[in-house]
Amino acid sequence: MVKDDYRHQGLRKRLVDELRNKGISDPQVLKAIGEVPRHLFIDDSAFLELAYQDIAFPIGCGQTISQPYTVAFQTQLLAGKPGAKILEIGTGSGYQTAVLVKMGYKVFSIERHRPLYIRTKERLVGMGLKASLFHGDGYLGAPKEAPFDRILVTCGAPFIPDDLPAQLKPGGWLVIPVGEGEEQRMIKLDKQLDGALVHQDLGAFRFVPMLKNKV
Ligand code: SAH
Repeated sequence: MVKDDYRHQGLRKRLVDELRNKGISDPQVLKAIGEVPRHLFIDDSAFLELAYQDIAFPIGCGQTISQPYTVAFQTQLLAGKPGAKILEIGTGSGYQTAVLVKMGYKVFSIERHRPLYIRTKERLVGMGLKASLFHGDGYLGAPKEAPFDRILVTCGAPFIPDDLPAQLKPGGWLVIPVGEGEEQRMIKLDKQLDGALVHQDLGAFRFVPMLKNKV
């Protein structure tokens, strides 16, 4: 079992400095990144050396753990209050989930790939991090737990699934990378108090695809 030692803590501090230099300014987000041992979210020890570099890499089942900058950028966009109800689509390794838990949110997260869902659930429980994980299709959201203050999609969606804005509270928002090619646009979709939806495009990112009907 790999532990979290002073060497990992030092590497994490360097990563936090790097993210700050790249423009992440929310102190709560930087603190959360500084607290989550990313090396414990990687199954293949061949990748341990890479854990605190600002890169994405494979986590098995053909999936990737998101780049720390992307995790920090999306988390910063959420800007919720502690206790806010957040739905994450694409649990993957659980790294982003752990960062959201450290932010003090009440976290719900959906993963379509069953082996990943099971492994990540065990991992988060083992780390003493409390989140509600589901195995299912993120296109449908989590209607039983709705409405949410924020919804965060961590896979590239070909379009904005109708069910997601419908599960937002008025005044809430959805952060979702949208696009069919290798690159997506990071879209923030604000749900106004009257229910109207306002789009904002926040630049180009790369995610693994959000798959449909493949649970
Ligand atoms: N947040 C993750 C990122 C993992 S990559 C992390 O920090 O590690 C994106 C994840 O989205 C993959 O695990 C993939 O299996 C999952 N995914 C893809 N399509 C999905 C869908 N329709 N519903 C739920 N999860 C989906």
